[in-house]
Amino acid sequence: MRFAIGDTTVDVIVDDDNFTSPLPEFFPGYDPQVIEAHRDVLEPVFVDRGLARFAIQSFVLRTGGRTLLIDCCIGEHKDIPEIPAWHQRRTSSFLEQLRRADVDPAEIDLVFCTHLHVDHVGWNTRQDNGRWTPTFPNARYLFGRRELADWMAQHDAGKALPIHARALEQSVIPIVEAGRADLVDDGYEPGRGLRLVPLPGHTGGQMGLVVEQARHRAIFCGDAIHNPLQIFQHGLSTSSCVDPKLAAETRTKILAEAADSGRLVVPAHFRGPRCAHIHAHSGGYAPVFDTNA
Ligand SMILES: [Zn+2]
Repeated sequence: MRFAIGDTTVDVIVDDDNFTSPLPEFFPGYDPQVIEAHRDVLEPVFVDRGLARFAIQSFVLRTGGRTLLIDCCIGEHKDIPEIPAWHQRRTSSFLEQLRRADVDPAEIDLVFCTHLHVDHVGWNTRQDNGRWTPTFPNARYLFGRRELADWMAQHDAGKALPIHARALEQSVIPIVEAGRADLVDDGYEPGRGLRLVPLPGHTGGQMGLVVEQARHRAIFCGDAIHNPLQIFQHGLSTSSCVDPKLAAETRTKILAEAADSGRLVVPAHFRGPRCAHIHAHSGGYAPVFDTNA
């Protein structure tokens, strides 16, 4: 699937298009009446029979002669016993989808991980003779300085949950050790009309990528929004957010700015059209599924 933000083309590379989680587990504060009121939009693509539905996907941006990959999904051969469908996966269509989008892994210039959760770093590395090596051999990998520092402090203190610790060991630390990582801060500009912005709350150091090229605008906002349900109920954070209140503030700010500026919102895990414009109305927001930025 491909869409455009002005001159920038965006290819969507889907690693898992049907990851599901029971609504009360994933969204402990969800309001069944909101789902009832917006059943026509939410069901069955985003919510179905008590389950929230997600895609795990990457976005390949071609802009200004450079190729940028946003988020790195699950990967193959990774130890993720907490999620059996992702544990020691031997085959996926990820690299084949890249090829079909006419993207050679060696041609990726930049990889940007919005944050360092297991479903955003997997394809950073691949197995090569028992070692984790960069999947994109010529890319610089952009990691948020604060995000990496937070996780490494937890890891080194033995306080990171095993699923997070293994993600670092299999998919992040090998990139740092290979000398391929660039630690970046809010405001960093990875290209013309591209800027990293802070999106704290889901993790402490999550960042998004804002695209502003002439009158075309978009924000790749990682896990600040997981599901369109959180556009209708914008205070709704997930059970995996480190600071649910801050995550809700960040989300509300994204929605307000998008409604105001016409920015296309591109969260990491939307199925269906993968992105949305935001319409503001009396005290709330609604998605408008039109992919033209
Ligand atoms: Zn995620």
